[in-house]
Amino acid sequence: MGITREPEFNAANVFGKGNPNAALAQYFTGESFLNPLTDPQNGELPLFNVTFEPGCRNNWHVHHAKSGGGQVLICTAGEGWYQEEGKAARELVPGTVVVIPAGVKHWHGAKADSWFSHIAIEVPGEGCSNEWLEPVDDAAFAMLG
Ligand code: MN
Repeated sequence: MGITREPEFNAANVFGKGNPNAALAQYFTGESFLNPLTDPQNGELPLFNVTFEPGCRNNWHVHHAKSGGGQVLICTAGEGWYQEEGKAARELVPGTVVVIPAGVKHWHGAKADSWFSHIAIEVPGEGCSNEWLEPVDDAAFAMLG
């Protein structure tokens, strides 16, 4: 079930909201938050809990890699959407796992009427980089569920 009220959502967001995602704000529509769960600078696998306010989503983007790479999303609170180019959007609820292969254009974010969080796992690989593309079209987003 979607969660519109922030205090109720914060109670459900067990991995924590963290701080405003300032470094990537230019690639998001709406406000997002980032809570690091590990210490990649100490060689730990990068895990982040990413929180999206209602209606917030990231731009279309691609996780590139020469081998391996890609991203895994583990949905933890609220409700959201995941969409790959040319495919129908997939509903995200707590417990949903999304495996995003390297090289696939996609976006992810909250439903219009719900806060949403997922843990993002950067899958190790060679030559990994992220390519940020155009924002998700407002009219297309409004048509979702
Ligand atoms: Mn992604």
